[in-house]
Amino acid sequence: MQFDLLVVGASFAGIACAREAALAGQRVCVIDRKPHPGARLHTTGLLVREVAEIGWLQAMPAALTRPIPAVCVYAPSMRHVRLQASGYHFLATDTGGLLRWMVEQARCVGVVFCWGTALSSLVRDEGGWSVNRSFRARYLVGADGPHSKVARLCGLSANREFLAGIELEFAGGRLHDAQALHCLVDRRLAPGYIGWAFQGVGMLQLGFARRHAVGQAVDVAALLDRLAPLIGERAARPSGRRGGMIPCGGVLPRVFGDRVLLVGDAAGLVSPLTAGGIHTALRYGSMAGSAAADWLRGRAPQPAETLRGRYPAFAIKRALRWAFDRFQSDRLTEWAIGSRLSRSVIGRLYFHKRSAASDVLPAPPLGPSKAPAERDQAG
Ligand SMILES: Cc1cc2nc3c(=O)[nH]c(=O)nc-3n(C[C@H](O)[C@H](O)[C@H](O)COP(=O)(O)OP(=O)(O)OC[C@H]3O[C@@H](n4cnc5c(N)ncnc54)[C@H](O)[C@@H]3O)c2cc1C
Repeated sequence: MQFDLLVVGASFAGIACAREAALAGQRVCVIDRKPHPGARLHTTGLLVREVAEIGWLQAMPAALTRPIPAVCVYAPSMRHVRLQASGYHFLATDTGGLLRWMVEQARCVGVVFCWGTALSSLVRDEGGWSVNRSFRARYLVGADGPHSKVARLCGLSANREFLAGIELEFAGGRLHDAQALHCLVDRRLAPGYIGWAFQGVGMLQLGFARRHAVGQAVDVAALLDRLAPLIGERAARPSGRRGGMIPCGGVLPRVFGDRVLLVGDAAGLVSPLTAGGIHTALRYGSMAGSAAADWLRGRAPQPAETLRGRYPAFAIKRALRWAFDRFQSDRLTEWAIGSRLSRSVIGRLYFHKRSAASDVLPAPPLGPSKAPAERDQAG
């Protein structure tokens, strides 16, 4: 099968890239080793509001998302601060449903998807690439996640620094305060990152990510214990699990080659501090698709030249990640929760602008009697 562009990986970056190139008139194919869209989810799927402002995603069906307007940040003692910013919210998603919807949008503009098709071989020749000996394409995009095989086979850079994340789903479970994303900063439980709990679409989602160290056990029981005061109702056993590795070293040095580029997690396009990668995968995925299409139509130099310098450097976030990895301390967190300066920093980190913070609230944080209005609104 002959295509102009072949994308490996049908997740956020790959779908956005393929759709954009197809819109520009290119014949585009996406291969993915998963059996169908939305299978074997690894991501929590929480979106920053900016995602819903991306042109084609404005049509995202409301039933696939649930707005979460506030953030509660907890110290290990469960003292916490509650913040929100007027007009801002996060979006919990039915992540499998969202990916299926995105695939449908790309299919509508002519993208061909081949499911259950893992990348096995790549041969470079004059006209482009022979992929798995069955596809031919003039340009290749690796959107195949944190352990990119495209990167390996093309001699591009590989991610080396990771957070390891695990999440439990409880179908029908409920939090006392369903209007907030609850984040626990605790060095013993989640060194280098956080634990979280929020009311997702039709389920309760609880998880944590930590600096990845080979052989280190993940203590899910400890997570459930710590978050127990936040939970109104949950089944004894989770209804599902997600998990995987999150690159946190920043954008990789070599992500462009001759007739090939990496995007999304494959390129390290994940915020080293917040570990959010969906927005960047979508944004730079579209940009990569458009740059590849322009080159394929003879209207621009190779995407390497147009995109180099446009991928973010994450300089401040990398510096903060460096400091957090070395100096995170539970005592400092306890102090910081009560300090005006750090609350303003947390507000900026989550909301990118001034946020309204509540007073520091003591532990135990919440009970059903404390937030009746919020309980009523839980979706
Ligand atoms: C536990 C966890 C929680 C997270 N939570 C959030 C969050 O709430 N918000 C947020 O913004 N970010 C979150 N992230 C990060 C976010 O999920 C990623 O940044 C995002 O999914 C990157 O999208 P992508 O398209 O680059 O790659 P991926 O989503 O990793 O997709 C890669 C695709 O490539 C396919 N593939 C891989 N290898 C091959 C191969 N050899 N052949 C064919 N196909 C292949 C895979 O099947 C997959 O479909 C989380 C990550 C983890 C692990």
